[in-house]
Amino acid sequence: MTTTARAEGIVDLHAHTTASDGIYAPARLVDLAIESGLRAIAITDHDTIDGLDEGLARAAERGFLCVPGVELSVEYEGGTFHLVGLSVDRRNRALCDTLEELKLIRSKRVDGIINDLNRHGIAITAEELHGVSGDTAIGRPHIARALIRKGYGTSMTEIFSKYLVRGKPGYVKKRKIAPSEAVRLITDAGGIPVIAHPISLNFKLFARFEEILDGLVAIGVRGVEAYASMHTPEEAERFAEIARARGLLVTGGSDFHGDKNERLGFYADGSPIPAEILADVENFGCAEPRGLVS
Ligand code: AMP
Ligand code: ZN
Ligand code: FE
Ligand code: FE
Repeated sequence: MTTTARAEGIVDLHAHTTASDGIYAPARLVDLAIESGLRAIAITDHDTIDGLDEGLARAAERGFLCVPGVELSVEYEGGTFHLVGLSVDRRNRALCDTLEELKLIRSKRVDGIINDLNRHGIAITAEELHGVSGDTAIGRPHIARALIRKGYGTSMTEIFSKYLVRGKPGYVKKRKIAPSEAVRLITDAGGIPVIAHPISLNFKLFARFEEILDGLVAIGVRGVEAYASMHTPEEAERFAEIARARGLLVTGGSDFHGDKNERLGFYADGSPIPAEILADVENFGCAEPRGLVS
């Protein structure tokens, strides 16, 4: 494939499956990506790589490029942010072990959230939730969907404005790992650590973002997700420029979950996520670039 050919079309390097809080199973997500005309997808579930085997197997079957990834919630001095690891080795022992611990922490936190909702008179039980989520990295969207089913709201946005966030019923802080630990886990597993939707770092000025970014680059962060659903096209270009000026990987993804008004391969108000970012990902050297099943 030539660079020119690869430069055409769209990709999506940030998407969730039923292994975490997406609504489509990994194989179905890969099918959807193909149906949507994408050139590649990355599966980046929260705190789990359990969806990768199924997604990569389907991609291999259909001759499609699926990049194996993961999304970690990280705590730093200024708050929290998400770190996406692209092209991770899903058999890496340290990564698997840490993710199992994080899954357990998520499950306990959900019990705390249910207790708090119950205290506020909202009738929801652990059985109702664990029943639907199975062995997944369970999170707030699972609870939000259960609340919608029970008539406490009609959309994810509405639920997240009334519940599950700081100061509202059903908020329990999640214990997160430190940036250096997250970066090490991803790097040791052969992956590229990338700051997901950097606007969520909540800085006021881009100059401040550059400072934060430089600190993170110093501990091993190697990329910036410039094209993200939370960004306007102007912000996306700004993030891309800042990343390129430092020789960092510029990446992008819709953060597809399936029921939050996102569209595979697009960000902001329908701007395409350019496939040319793929060439960059390959230049950064992926342990498992083609996501081949072995
Ligand atoms: P958790 O990892 O359990 O804290 O859940 C975080 C996930 O909840 C995010 O990745 C989003 O999928 C979802 N989420 C958080 N805030 C909102 C919001 N305001 N509207 C819709 N979804 C949200
Ligand atoms: Zn999510
Ligand atoms: Fe995220
Ligand atoms: Fe995400």
